[in-house]
Amino acid sequence: MKEIDLRSDTVTKPTKGMMNAIVNAEVGDDVYKEDPTVNELEEKLAKMFGMDEALFFPTGSMANQAAIKLHTQPADQLICDKWAHVYNYEGGGASFNSGVSCKLVDGHRGMITASQVEENINPPDFYHSPLTTLVCLENTTNKGGGACYDFEEIKKIRQVCDAHNLGLHLDGARLFNALVAKKEDPKEYGKLFDTISVCLSKGLGTPLGTVLIGNKKVMKNAMRVRKVLGGGMRQVGFMAAAGVYALDNHVERLAEDHKRASEIGDVLGEQEYVSEVEPVETNIVIFYLKRMTDEPAFMEALQKQNIRISNMGQGKLRIVTHLDYSEEMHHRFLNVLREIKL
Ligand SMILES: *Cc1c(COP(=O)(O)O)cnc(C)c1O
Repeated sequence: MKEIDLRSDTVTKPTKGMMNAIVNAEVGDDVYKEDPTVNELEEKLAKMFGMDEALFFPTGSMANQAAIKLHTQPADQLICDKWAHVYNYEGGGASFNSGVSCKLVDGHRGMITASQVEENINPPDFYHSPLTTLVCLENTTNKGGGACYDFEEIKKIRQVCDAHNLGLHLDGARLFNALVAKKEDPKEYGKLFDTISVCLSKGLGTPLGTVLIGNKKVMKNAMRVRKVLGGGMRQVGFMAAAGVYALDNHVERLAEDHKRASEIGDVLGEQEYVSEVEPVETNIVIFYLKRMTDEPAFMEALQKQNIRISNMGQGKLRIVTHLDYSEEMHHRFLNVLREIKL
């Protein structure tokens, strides 16, 4: 029985087409900025978002950490949601790399509002508290279950940032999921944010790579910061080729992942053993069992069918659909969910 791995959209392997793009890539030394394929990928994304520059990073964490470094000075404070990836899942990098603290906001499904941002800015002349210099948003939210921001709220957050002279960074690890789900234009995002990180290795299905996109003024030191973090890579055009291929071939199809996730949410909602399914907006389904004590039996029932999902703790179970989750697997999985008895 073929394994169905729904733990994350990072488990995908390159498709045939992507593999061809990788092996046929024209490469050079990217630390000298001489890799034509990396340059092509960076130009493509900068243009797509209507921003000045883009820079290829090995991971999303490194791209976010570089952005934080570019926007802040040691002892500054950034504002983010309490569930933010930059705070919870980057190993404490904000304090280690940039010497900044995070002011955590109690948002909704990983999203914060303009008034919450405003309330959490420390008065700049009050030297007892850290100086607020940056706001980090996440779209779609990871721990928030793939929820998407209302674009009007982001516009209001930008106004607050302008009024208080704060930088605005978007952790867009799954931004393409939001763009497809809400039919939004990347250029509109480029107009509002100072920096945007977009992962190629999540729903888009490359083996690795995240691009940090931004305007000239903020990106001035980006190459140096990437070097300091150890992220300058040589013939990495092989991976950039996978990125170019993914942007050309794997963006529109994210709608299929969203459709399947929504169908999984519907089927879960009909099951006796499920107490709640969070609204499914993109490719992530978060749900809770009626009795938390049933979790081991539920996970074991899936394991027996060679199906893997994530247990995020506190009763939170997570399913993520992706490129390697086929229609055939989908039908099998839905049937398994319908047949489980706890
Ligand atoms: C996956 C992810 C990242 C980056 O993770 P890496 O594993 O370092 O590539 C950043 N932010 C969010 C919201 C993510 O889901």
